[in-house]
Amino acid sequence: MSRDEGKGGVEAPESESTLGMEPVADTLRRLREAFSAGRTQAAGFRASQLEGLSSFLQDNRQLLQDALAQDLHKSAFMSDISELILIQNEVDLALQNLRSWMKDEPVATSLLTKLSSAFIRKEPFGLVLIISPWNYPMNLTLMPLVGALAAGNCVVLKPSEVSKSSEKVLAEVLPRYLDQSCFAMVLGGPEETGRLLENKFDYILFTGSPRVGKIVMAAAAKHLTPVTLELGGKNPCYVDDDCDPQTVANRVVCFRYFNSGQTCVAPDYVLCSPEMQERLLPALQGAIARFFGNDPRGSPDLGRIINEKQFQRLQGLLGCGRVAIGGQNDERERYIAPTVLVDVQETEPVMQEEIFGPILPIVNVRGPDEAIDFINRREKPLALYVFSNSSQVVNQMLERTSSGSFVGNEGFTYFTLPSLPLGGIGHSGMGRYHGKFSFDTFSHHRACLLSHPGLEKLNEIRYPPYTDWNKKLITWALSSQSCTLL
Ligand code: NAD
Repeated sequence: MSRDEGKGGVEAPESESTLGMEPVADTLRRLREAFSAGRTQAAGFRASQLEGLSSFLQDNRQLLQDALAQDLHKSAFMSDISELILIQNEVDLALQNLRSWMKDEPVATSLLTKLSSAFIRKEPFGLVLIISPWNYPMNLTLMPLVGALAAGNCVVLKPSEVSKSSEKVLAEVLPRYLDQSCFAMVLGGPEETGRLLENKFDYILFTGSPRVGKIVMAAAAKHLTPVTLELGGKNPCYVDDDCDPQTVANRVVCFRYFNSGQTCVAPDYVLCSPEMQERLLPALQGAIARFFGNDPRGSPDLGRIINEKQFQRLQGLLGCGRVAIGGQNDERERYIAPTVLVDVQETEPVMQEEIFGPILPIVNVRGPDEAIDFINRREKPLALYVFSNSSQVVNQMLERTSSGSFVGNEGFTYFTLPSLPLGGIGHSGMGRYHGKFSFDTFSHHRACLLSHPGLEKLNEIRYPPYTDWNKKLITWALSSQSCTLL
């Protein structure tokens, strides 16, 4: 079927997830056959799958909100703003732009190739695997899915086994909205995912920890499968002496404790001078009380830790440095109050591992130069935050550091912009997605040159034996100088 033809297979059969109904190898073979038959190529088919995803979001909003509340104690509002609205926006953007994204992209030619047309064709890779984590279980599973479907791939989704309620809704309901000859869900934890990764995929997008990212990349390498790795790490937040502590505190509190700190792009620790720390602490205390009340446990806007294992890990981190704010916790509810730690040593666990919880250590530095040294001595972070009234300081931090993203005087609202890529560098990952970046990530950019079958006389100068005259001509025709003359 041609890429421009109409719809295919919108009416997905009303059955359950393919999981459990046939061995994984058979499912993968079936998807490959559908891809080889060209089923996913047409713009109409791709649009029908995106519309299916949109209907899934709209028809099951309550179900999705309930699942997120059960997994992470997210309020309906929190689920909407951090997961459901963002996925819907991504689907809408892909539907609006699908045909223009799919178009061949003409590129410049040289004098040597003047009689040919050169263009880039965006082709689907084929069979794509998406593996996702538990902290934004809908967002981090379905946002990549939008790009993979828009680019015309067959897709296998492997959601996190940790966010159980979300996994259940995805497995039981989503497949009804997508063409099951081109889409499948595989469930399971490390063991099952390890077995799944033994199979050959044409592209893998993995979101999760750097530790598991290495396992995924090693498995992909066996098949030379390209990967996008969306990983985590420690995101520094430098607070300059020249800024208003209350403004900084409001923004840091809002984004550090969002989803109870279980956000890959959240500020992980603050770097500031001892003087700024003195001014910042009461401001942080004030912001926490204003946002979550005097007993934050009762706030509908504060989540809970995902499971017992993570709770125990975070409780251990509360023993680092000295608790300046918060520190209260309750194992039965998996509740940890918004906490600030001071007098923290670089060598303590809270400064060695990604915190991924509602704990914010403050480490003292003497100014921007020392902050830059501190940051550059560590792995490259996913996000880097700087607060300062001085644009010179903000620019200095931007120019002398490296990170997946950089944010001045703000939290992670950049995450909501499809015009900006989401992706890490070095230890925080490789590749990017969101908006058109997702479409491009899941498309092979095929270099195409179509030449005229005739006009052989004109081509003859290119063939041996090479005389002085045609050597000169070919050299000139190849040079950039000839291109600028034309
Ligand atoms: P994780 O790496 O433990 O798990 C992620 C996925 O990998 C899950 O689906 C899980 O089933 C699977 N998995 C786990 N162990 C495996 C193994 N041994 N072999 C194969 N597959 C395995 O991560 P998590 O705990 O779910 O999520 C937290 C991490 O994810 C944090 O490091 C966080 O920073 C990162 N994260 C990154 C982003 C981003 O966009 N860069 C977003 C969210 C979370």
